[in-house]
Amino acid sequence: MDSVETYLADILAAIRPLPPRELALADALGAVLTDDVAARYPLPSFDNSAMDGYAVRAADVATATEDSPVVLPVDGEVAAGDTGPRDLVPGSVIRIMTGAPMPAGADAVVQVELTDGGTERVTIHGSVEAGHAVRLTGGDAQPGDLLLPAGTRLRAVHVGLLAAAGHGTVRARPRPRVTVISTGNELVEPGAELIRGRIWESNATMLAAAAREAGCPARRYPIVRDTTDALLAAVQDALAGADLLVTSGGVSMGGEHDVVKAALGTLGTVTFRKVAMQPGMPQGFGTVGPAATPIFTLPGNPVSAYVSFCLFVRPALDALQDSYEERAKPGQAVLAGPARSPAERRSFLRGVLDGPAGLVTPVSGQASHQLASLARANALIIVPEHITSLDAGETVDVLELP
Ligand code: AMP
Ligand code: MG
Repeated sequence: MDSVETYLADILAAIRPLPPRELALADALGAVLTDDVAARYPLPSFDNSAMDGYAVRAADVATATEDSPVVLPVDGEVAAGDTGPRDLVPGSVIRIMTGAPMPAGADAVVQVELTDGGTERVTIHGSVEAGHAVRLTGGDAQPGDLLLPAGTRLRAVHVGLLAAAGHGTVRARPRPRVTVISTGNELVEPGAELIRGRIWESNATMLAAAAREAGCPARRYPIVRDTTDALLAAVQDALAGADLLVTSGGVSMGGEHDVVKAALGTLGTVTFRKVAMQPGMPQGFGTVGPAATPIFTLPGNPVSAYVSFCLFVRPALDALQDSYEERAKPGQAVLAGPARSPAERRSFLRGVLDGPAGLVTPVSGQASHQLASLARANALIIVPEHITSLDAGETVDVLELP
């Protein structure tokens, strides 16, 4: 059996990052920059007003006070979006709105609150320094300044900055597109009528949602029956629109019923291994198709499938954007109840973590088909390979679930 670390390291070593593409900003959220982005223009690109008020020469209002205001003629107004040249005649003011270009000759803005708001003549009750309420050209960034370094995963603010800096597109590695294929003769569409012996499909539904929760576009492929031909056709078909494939089921030790193992084993690129963990011991990984698309063959039990997704598929999604980083070490908490674990396997028990109290309680129902129990948990309790039982009060590592 391989350790969790060995298996993950082999997966990461086999993944080639997706090539960068020129992405529209609407598609850029979550993409990872492959190049530094520098400012091409000053930001802002022209001197403009930070407030609604009056563009002035500071010298003209230098004596203004509450008791002894200065009264000046108002020579029209300039609003955000106005582009025509405006000159301030000394001894007058121009009404100005936030974001409007500063008239030539004006060196400050008196905010409207310091005035009577006049339109023909304005009474100004205070002085301002030169530069007051003026946003200077390049005050946020100068041409050539580094705005976003290569490797940045684009968040909303980053996308906003790209737009503000005049970029309509950006070169980045997009979020990988995920397709999840469930196999099994027993599977029925969620919500459809069920007869005894069948179950509602839940893994592909869950794992596609988990991929979306991780920020990736994801879809669930229609249920595939347990035949080699059906599976190979599905994989072939799914390759077209996916950067990563996940299958569920068909990888246990049950011989001819384990169609994923039988079918993909013949491709020569997917290897099936036992990983020293519980749940999720039978694992398969490889690459398929012309783009060497990674494919994970996860075990069919829903808890095994989900835990495997968290431990292996999630890091692979990051690696496809060349942005895999070992996640922060697991947290620690005190066990509120006893826990058992098989020898020689690392257990990922389902638990309810009370972060502020530093306590974690194993949920009842730790079998790998018990999705209801998993749904009650918010954390995985990690029990190392050499430990088979733990008592309440012992400190354990915990991984918080998304
Ligand atoms: P398998 O790995 O195909 O042997 O399946 C192991 C267990 O997981 C069996 O009880 C299956 O019925 C169940 N199972 C497999 N695929 C799914 C699925 N997509 N949704 C829910 N349960 C599944
Ligand atoms: Mg099956």
